[in-house]
Amino acid sequence: MIKADELVLPAVAALRPYEPGKPIEEVQRELGIGEPAKLASNENPAGPSPMAVAAIKAALNDLHRYPDGSSWSLRHKIAAKHRVPAERIFMGSGSCEILNLLVYLFLRPGLNAVIAEHSFVIYQLAIAASGGAAKVVPLRPDYVFDLDAMAAAIDERTRLVFLGNPNNPTGTIYRKAEWRRFLQRVPERVVIVADEAYFEFVRDFDYPDSLEDHDGRRMLVTLRTFSKIFGLAGLRVGYAVAREDITRLLNSVRQPFNITSLGQVAVEAGMDDHEHVRRTLKINADGMAYLEREFGRMGLPFLPSQANFILVEVGDGHAVYEKLLREGVIVRPMNGYGLPRHVRVSVGLSEENRRMIAALERVLGRAAGRNPGFSKN
Ligand SMILES: *Cc1c(COP(=O)(O)O)cnc(C)c1O
Repeated sequence: MIKADELVLPAVAALRPYEPGKPIEEVQRELGIGEPAKLASNENPAGPSPMAVAAIKAALNDLHRYPDGSSWSLRHKIAAKHRVPAERIFMGSGSCEILNLLVYLFLRPGLNAVIAEHSFVIYQLAIAASGGAAKVVPLRPDYVFDLDAMAAAIDERTRLVFLGNPNNPTGTIYRKAEWRRFLQRVPERVVIVADEAYFEFVRDFDYPDSLEDHDGRRMLVTLRTFSKIFGLAGLRVGYAVAREDITRLLNSVRQPFNITSLGQVAVEAGMDDHEHVRRTLKINADGMAYLEREFGRMGLPFLPSQANFILVEVGDGHAVYEKLLREGVIVRPMNGYGLPRHVRVSVGLSEENRRMIAALERVLGRAAGRNPGFSKN
């Protein structure tokens, strides 16, 4: 019998499927645990916007209809928000779909994409699936992207550069001066992808908003998503802002109905829910301060984060992840990201954060001498 593996590119046969954060139902099924705290996928702990939920309920009776394949109304609304023509907005089934489509368009065997070490694994998976090569550039010692080294890594065969700002899983950002210098150095034929999935969480004033650098000459693609601060990860909606020649190509290769009808109406309503965004930012800022304080108290090294998650060094990351599972807390092990001593923890509601810290103390054996039955933390 011929194996299907023999019929595809060797790089594709060697791939392993993306491992998402462990779903709550799976932990309950496998470990019989009541209600685990899921702090593994950088989801919004405040839930979805009530305005988005109401819009979905109102649209349910039209589910027999195909969605608007051009997401006309939603796309125009996003375009107005960013003050760009609607032709420069491309809607994707999550920004992950757009990452895949960009690789599909611009990469093939013999060509390469430049990425940073310890960045979003989807970049690597998409590149490998195309048969193209990834040129992986190490981070600086402070775990920030080394944009000078990334620019230097670009060669004749480079077609794409992927930048996460903030980066997942480090939570670090690159700043305006480095970014401007990078833009000067990148040749015009290279597509620069600025993945800004955590844009709204950033507090550093020196953070560059890549939308300000669309000058019509560069091939710059800015990616944003409704999965994180807007709390709509389950709907799968993200978008790109790019030159019209790029959005036209993306539109030619996407599925005709890639954004569901419910996704379109929910995002259109949820976009305006500024109260929900404010509440989310408050939960995140408070939770982040708490986690930094507690990790500090426990002597665990962590990276200051500009996003809604934090990377913390715990020793054997995978072992700690498994022990935390048995305590009913789901975090993300980082072996797949080349960080076997770390776990990534999403900021949750305050009771979820407290539960995670208490479980981590039990797992690491640092609560010795304290009687957990009487401890209020
Ligand atoms: C979560 C995340 C995304 C968003 O993915 P969606 O497909 O929009 O849900 C994109 N990039 C990074 C780095 C992320 O962490």
